[in-house]
Amino acid sequence: MPVPPAHDTAASVFLSDHLQAVTEALATTQGQSAVLELVLTSAGQALGTVAGAVLLLDAASQSLTPFSAGPDASLWQGGPLEESGPVRDALARRESLFFADQGALLRSYPELEVRAAGAGAVATAVLPMTLDDQLSGALVVNVPAPHPFTEAEIRFLRILAAQCAVALDRAQLHQTLEDRVAARTAELEGERAALDAFVAYKESVGSESDVRILARQAVRVVQAGLQHVSAAYYELEDGWWKARVWSEDVAPEVAAEIQAGVPEDAPDFRDAARSQAAVFADGWNAEANELPSTDAYGAVALLPLTVNGETRSLFAVGTRDARAWNEREKALVRAVVRGLGITLERTEITRQLQARNAELDARTQALEAFAQLTQDLATQSDPYEFVRRAQEVTLSLLSPGYSLYYERDGNQWRNRVQVGDVGHADLQAFIDAGPPVGETPSIDVPWTTREPLYQDDYARGSDTPPEMVQHVQTVASLPVFRHGTVVGVLIAVLFDGRCWTPTDRVTLDTVVRSLGLALERAEQAGELRQRTEQLERSNAELEQFAYIASHDLQAPIRAVTSFAGIINRRYGAQLDERGQLYLRQIIDSGEHMKQLLDDLLTFSRVHTERHAFLPVDANVVFDTVAQRLQAGAPAAQVTRAALPTVRADALQLDQLLQNLISNGLKYRREGTVPQVRVSAQPDGPMWRFAVTDNGIGIESQYFGRIFEIFQRLHVRETYEGTGIGLAVCKKIVEQHGGQLWVDSTPGEGSTFYFTLPGVD
Ligand code: ADP
Repeated sequence: MPVPPAHDTAASVFLSDHLQAVTEALATTQGQSAVLELVLTSAGQALGTVAGAVLLLDAASQSLTPFSAGPDASLWQGGPLEESGPVRDALARRESLFFADQGALLRSYPELEVRAAGAGAVATAVLPMTLDDQLSGALVVNVPAPHPFTEAEIRFLRILAAQCAVALDRAQLHQTLEDRVAARTAELEGERAALDAFVAYKESVGSESDVRILARQAVRVVQAGLQHVSAAYYELEDGWWKARVWSEDVAPEVAAEIQAGVPEDAPDFRDAARSQAAVFADGWNAEANELPSTDAYGAVALLPLTVNGETRSLFAVGTRDARAWNEREKALVRAVVRGLGITLERTEITRQLQARNAELDARTQALEAFAQLTQDLATQSDPYEFVRRAQEVTLSLLSPGYSLYYERDGNQWRNRVQVGDVGHADLQAFIDAGPPVGETPSIDVPWTTREPLYQDDYARGSDTPPEMVQHVQTVASLPVFRHGTVVGVLIAVLFDGRCWTPTDRVTLDTVVRSLGLALERAEQAGELRQRTEQLERSNAELEQFAYIASHDLQAPIRAVTSFAGIINRRYGAQLDERGQLYLRQIIDSGEHMKQLLDDLLTFSRVHTERHAFLPVDANVVFDTVAQRLQAGAPAAQVTRAALPTVRADALQLDQLLQNLISNGLKYRREGTVPQVRVSAQPDGPMWRFAVTDNGIGIESQYFGRIFEIFQRLHVRETYEGTGIGLAVCKKIVEQHGGQLWVDSTPGEGSTFYFTLPGVD
């Protein structure tokens, strides 16, 4: 520790140097305790071994707080100012007091004797600290030995005390500033959190469809935005406002109360619900609103949420501190509740849409059922069956009532189909008698205008005596068209009032249009059936004719050919060349005719001589046929892949393969060894056979024609034949439920495909 030199001038140089150092150090020292520490240490260094204290005066100048260094700090305790003897005097007089020894001190302040006993202080200096004329405390310095304070020391201590006051004030200012910055930062952070919560909430408003989930968020946003408030979301249920969501701070007894519900007519709730406007109550009457536990709240806001003009829920905010709402608070609460309102509305619209969709679905289903039914009824020729069905579908979609279907009969309307009871005996009699044309607008109008007539409010008395139709409220009459002509009027009569909605109209129009189409189709189906029956009849007749003709012509033709043969054998030699040529032509033509008759007979027998379809091994049938054909054409190659067992008439399968393979051999290409191969592939429940040859092939334009009877692509001189073989094949395959077709490349060969049922 530096000791002041004895020499006075040297001592004052030392002190002023030291002061300089302290001043500089203080300029960079921050914080109250650092300042005090530095001041007390400096005093010690300047005056030798020393203890000291700084006593700080509080704002009211009533008491002192000590900050001390050194062993005898107890002498300068803090406390009320009036009890602090020398410090009090120094402050009151704004004068520094110096006591060179203990005696001097105790002489002036004998009461300190008790405290001083045992304390080491001998010389004491007490210096008031002032800044801008304001007292801020005192600097007390003790020297452990008698010490007359020199001028230089007194000046040093006075300046030190003043510096200390300045530094303390700066530290104080600094502290205040820091505190303010911290407080503002906290405030800003709070605001940012509130803003973030609000932004998140706004985003949720766009997407959240569950209003209670959003209400939970709304509660949080309000709490973040307004400090110290509680919030709750209520819904109206059976005359009670019941809280569904509330903030966590709500006391359990309050939570129980709001959950149990507030009567609908609790004054503030009622006012908000009725006026459909926010109620910001400055001051809250818990008793009047039947929520005794909410007594602690100072101001309450109730904001109604309306859907379809009805208040269904309320958002409540309560504050404990304030008794009045300010504009910012009101604006925030309103903004949050608006978001909730949007969600509520959206939820409601979604609900309505869903209901509408469900209704539409039901209607579509009914229409589909009707369409399906008319399809199923296609074979049904009674048009009134369709009308009845259309009436049933119509009534199933509407409230109770009945339906009539009128057709015109001269000057009267005839009720042809009725579904449901008209609910009045006289009315039924009137309907049955046939209302007059031209005096029954509900039928006349749609008939003549060709437009539906929808009467939301049935014009009683316009069609019938009014007393018969008192129970009728709503009527729809629709013209029914067939091929563009109105053929009847379908009427739906309802006992309940109903506004025909666009959906109703579309539905009824659709039903009636479908009815018209069904009627047309039924008519066509009827015609088709008749035509088919006719065709079948004439087909059967033709077959019968072919059979009889081919059968009965056999004997005469046999006679012609055999007699021609006899003539040739017996008298051939007597005939000249021309006569022999004619005779040969008779024989040739006779044989061809015999072939024709045979083939024709085969053709007609496909129908007449049918056998049961049994499992037949196609390999066996093929082998028989191949052997038979190979005998006539030994050079030809007739082969097969492994063939399946099919369900067929074995004789007909033989005929089928025989015709196709023999054609394959017959229509061979010049200069090639004829090859025919038969194979088969599964094709669903059927087998698809392929008979492939390497013959002359067929032009694609003849792919259809060759299957018709008598259709040939060549003259008899080139290729022998009658043009019946493929027609027989086609008949056989179709009789088995299969199909026959050809694919071919002229000059390369043909493949005939046919399908036959497999064995399951
Ligand atoms: P036909 O063989 O007695 O003339 P089809 O009914 O069996 O009578 O055949 C009809 C026509 O189809 C034949 O005249 C012939 O022109 C053609 N055709 C049938 N099979 C073949 C085949 N494998 N290759 C080329 N043309 C054929």
